[in-house]
Amino acid sequence: MDATGPSEPTGRAGPPAATFAPPPPSRYESQKRRDWNTFLQYLRTHQPPVSLPQCGGAHVIEFLRYLDRFGKTKVHEPGCAHFGRPESPDPPCPCPLNQAWGSLDALVGRLRAAHDERRTSGEVENPFADRAVGVYLREVKERQGKARGVAYRKRWKRKRVASTAAGSSAGADKRGGSSSSSTAAGDSRSSSPAAS
Ligand SMILES: [Zn+2]
Repeated sequence: MDATGPSEPTGRAGPPAATFAPPPPSRYESQKRRDWNTFLQYLRTHQPPVSLPQCGGAHVIEFLRYLDRFGKTKVHEPGCAHFGRPESPDPPCPCPLNQAWGSLDALVGRLRAAHDERRTSGEVENPFADRAVGVYLREVKERQGKARGVAYRKRWKRKRVASTAAGSSAGADKRGGSSSSSTAAGDSRSSSPAAS
């Protein structure tokens, strides 16, 4: 995780030589830096201005909502004829354009990491790790999933149901196989010698 040694920018003492340029930061790193600057800018221009230590989950959610005005993802509302359909409508509908859930989720991940990097001794809570932010993202995911006919939630549910069903059927199988086991069926079965 901490193998960033040689790529650390250390050329503050003098101007970098034209022939030796440090390797450019990765796409993720530069994106993270851009996002962080955007966020700081948002806090600075906030009414009233918010300093980083004052910033909490509510501010993060406000920021995510603010970003929606630059969004490009059509999110159909329940009343729209295109609601629940993945294809984009041909005569455009008046539903709002939002940030896609995936973009917001990735953005929060980058900002959370950026905040962690700047934290000195853990005296400030990471607002991006706030529970409310997680709840907000989940709501966005569900709303967009429904609007586009992608049932994220159902898929999870089905998985969980399938696994519990498998577990219970295995239990039933065990119960049917051994007659005198009361509590630890598997254990008693393996330790007991041949039953007549
Ligand atoms: Zn629509």
